[in-house]
Amino acid sequence: MAASTARVYCATSPTDPLVPSTVPRRAVLPLDVAIKIHYCGMCHSDLHHIRSEWRKTNYPIVPGHEIVGVVEAVGSEVSKFKIGDRVGVGCMVNSCRSCDQCHHGNEQYCSKCTMTYGVADTIGNLPESVVGPNPVTYGGYSERVIVQEPYVLSIPENLDFAAAAPLLCAGITVWTPIIEAKPGPEKTIGVLGVGGLGHMALKIAHAFGARVVAFTSKAELISLGADEVIVTSDEKSLAAAANSIDLLIDTVSADHALMPMFSTLKFGATYHLLGAPPTDLSFNAFAFLRRRINLTGSLIGGIQSTQDMLDFCGKHSITSIIELMPFNQINEALTRLEKGDVRYRFVLDIVNAFKD
Ligand code: NAP
Ligand code: ZN
Ligand code: ZN
Repeated sequence: MAASTARVYCATSPTDPLVPSTVPRRAVLPLDVAIKIHYCGMCHSDLHHIRSEWRKTNYPIVPGHEIVGVVEAVGSEVSKFKIGDRVGVGCMVNSCRSCDQCHHGNEQYCSKCTMTYGVADTIGNLPESVVGPNPVTYGGYSERVIVQEPYVLSIPENLDFAAAAPLLCAGITVWTPIIEAKPGPEKTIGVLGVGGLGHMALKIAHAFGARVVAFTSKAELISLGADEVIVTSDEKSLAAAANSIDLLIDTVSADHALMPMFSTLKFGATYHLLGAPPTDLSFNAFAFLRRRINLTGSLIGGIQSTQDMLDFCGKHSITSIIELMPFNQINEALTRLEKGDVRYRFVLDIVNAFKD
């Protein structure tokens, strides 16, 4: 397949609405998979990037790392995928493939990991003579993406395609702490913040048979697989949950109080940060001194782990609860995401925007 352009929505500043544009997509290289994007989830990380809330964003940026689509071309060395396959792409599109982290399935921690959007594109570590000067990664708010085979995932056939898209970031991100906790009926897993990540954590932890407790500001939250729902502003309910949690998964996107949540942990239990608020979080050391709790965090998950999570979700028929948005309503979706007005993930309907 020759080099092409793809229609996209891009952000040009932290404040302006996203605008339609086009970006270059390279010719298909031997290890490349060209994917016609059908759906792309809208992660809160996209919003952090668009608003330049973390490191300074280099505009224009085409966000989107919860991509599902259909293979439309493959390079001569591709062996795992063929035209017509249902595939997915998450938060990374390359890594060095030779360091310890890459060898141990932790590509996301490789010092040369290439994220799906907004960074210099290393494209299979090929020279500039092959890939052109200064290529940049453009993500899934786009009609097409071209990704090296090792970073492409298979989407189980039984899963609704649009509702599977959020598994590529939200799903794998919550999978990591859940798997590390060796979940089962004897474990109580708490989830703080029931948004895109949080609702997937409830579903996946429940599927492992764990007792699941949702901590939320949403008084209307029904259950989503949680055995108990605690509204965090209700001090009495929060106090009643003291010393009950083995693993607390924090998915909150903004500054929030950690100390009341620490008290829900059992002695020696683990508080796992997944949310990435732009500002610093604070806590008192005595939470750790007196009760020996562990504070940790993680970034998404490796490629094999992502495939394991997808296969598990296929086996247990787990997908995201989504609001499917026409591609041209992307700015309405962003505004609502910013207000927390989404149940529980926006997914952009891209395939129907480009039927011509
Ligand atoms: P989201 O759908 O917007 O959900 C965030 C949830 O956080 C909200 O639903 C809300 O839960 C809670 N929340 C928001 N503001 C709050 C506040 N001021 N105080 C208390 N709770 C608040 O976002 P998401 O897509 O799930 O992403 C969540 C965070 O994880 C973001 O910071 C994102 O960048 C980060 N993230 C990290 C990774 C990783 O690899 N570690 C991967 C993906 C995303 P309730 O309504 O239930 O209270
Ligand atoms: Zn994400
Ligand atoms: Zn590496």
